[in-house]
Amino acid sequence: MRACVFKAAGAPLEVVALPDPIAGPGELIVRVRACGICSSDLYAASSTEDPLPSGTIMGHELAGEIAAIGPGAGEFEIGEPVVVMSYLACGECANCRAGAGVRCAAARLVGFGEAPGGYAELIATRPGSVFRMPRGMSFRAGATVEPLVIGLHAARRARLGAGESCVIIGAGATGLMTMLWARDFGARAIVVSDRARDRREAALRLGAGAAVDPRMHNPAAAMAKLTGAPPDVVFDCAGEPGTLAQAITLVRLRGRVVAVSAAMEDDGFPPGLAMGKELDVHFSLGLEPGEVEEAIAALASGRISTEPLITHAVALDDLPRAFAALQHPNNQTRVMLEF
Ligand SMILES: [Zn+2]
Ligand SMILES: [Zn+2]
Repeated sequence: MRACVFKAAGAPLEVVALPDPIAGPGELIVRVRACGICSSDLYAASSTEDPLPSGTIMGHELAGEIAAIGPGAGEFEIGEPVVVMSYLACGECANCRAGAGVRCAAARLVGFGEAPGGYAELIATRPGSVFRMPRGMSFRAGATVEPLVIGLHAARRARLGAGESCVIIGAGATGLMTMLWARDFGARAIVVSDRARDRREAALRLGAGAAVDPRMHNPAAAMAKLTGAPPDVVFDCAGEPGTLAQAITLVRLRGRVVAVSAAMEDDGFPPGLAMGKELDVHFSLGLEPGEVEEAIAALASGRISTEPLITHAVALDDLPRAFAALQHPNNQTRVMLEF
């Protein structure tokens, strides 16, 4: 098979020929049809502190078709369309045997050196990491399920209710996916805060009530213009130094803050202010059983569309160039590798 591999921090990815993966006992081989390029891929590929192993196949947001079924891997059909999740469940623990691979404590991360990812024609996976998607749903929509579930889980962690208001800090893919669910959950006012004009415009197109540049305007003031009150919930989808503190400052008394992205270094926040407001602060990372199926159903029915977030598509041969371009300032939300 052909794959696009990481070589060294700062060096371009390389397209190489590798042996096809073989379906061992309990394994499935999926022919990748679409794989999203995530900002965590860009971060991992540039990190010199904790570099990825040379030869890593990145990519953890993918969908494709079953290409081979190993002994004991379950009732799948060749050609069946599936979403492959970002964790490789072990397939043997009590959770995996009960069909809750999402709770597998021995799961390996896909695409960051622990298990091969989706920047390749084929990927080896296991039934606990695979979800069927309806025929007719596009593979590129399937490849947005993983980030879409992150947004769904964040909205759940916030216990966001119909008629509530929220501020979303950061209008990258995570912020916009969270916003799609906030709308679906019936939020009556959504203010998005981002320094980039293109991202603010994308947020407005997708239904934000206002989108502000935080260097010029206070998002809570923009919310007060819409509803007359500070936001019930603030999502930190930027995860930059200071944004969690900003979320705590913006939210109303007894409001909820959800950290959906996190700064990679120690980052202070004002505990006295959080205490004074008696806030609930949640950190949102994983997903619950059922949330993947829920995201797939929302996409398949058209209740939620991630299509406007896919700003560019590339073939495998163009991936090194597209990946390098994303490491500079750009206005892409999701670049999709398609086969
Ligand atoms: Zn991702
Ligand atoms: Zn397991």
